[in-house]
Amino acid sequence: MSHKILIVEDNENNRCLFRDILRFHGYQVEVAADGREGVALARELAPDLILMDIQMPGMDGMTAGGILKGDPATCGLKIVALTSFAMRGDQEKFMAAGFDGYLSKPISTRELPNLVKQWLEEGHV
Ligand SMILES: [Mg+2]
Repeated sequence: MSHKILIVEDNENNRCLFRDILRFHGYQVEVAADGREGVALARELAPDLILMDIQMPGMDGMTAGGILKGDPATCGLKIVALTSFAMRGDQEKFMAAGFDGYLSKPISTRELPNLVKQWLEEGHV
C-alpha cells in the first residue's frame, strides 16, 4: 500500500503542483487549502506525512501544526513545515513548535519526491 500524504497549502499553483508530482510518484495525496481544513483532514486520514505551509490566511500552519502536535490522537503524525525565504533563520521556531522538519520554498520539483521518500523512510533529510 502506498503512503498517504497530506498537503496543506493556500497557494493553488503550489498545491496542485506538489499534489501532481507526488501522485505521479505513486503516493496517495490529499490536499487542504488552509490550516482548519488541514487539521480536519489530518484527523480523518492519519496521513504518513503532512507538508504544512506556514503562511496561510485563516488558520496558519504554525497554529494548525500546534493543534495536531498538542493532541494525543495526532501528535505522532509527521509534519514538515513549508517555509518561505523570508523565514530563513526561523527554523528553531518550527522545531520548538513540534514540527519534524522544514523545507524552504521555492521547493525543487525534482527534489521533492526524494525528500518525501527520505522523510518517510528515515524520518529526516
Ligand atoms: Mg502560503
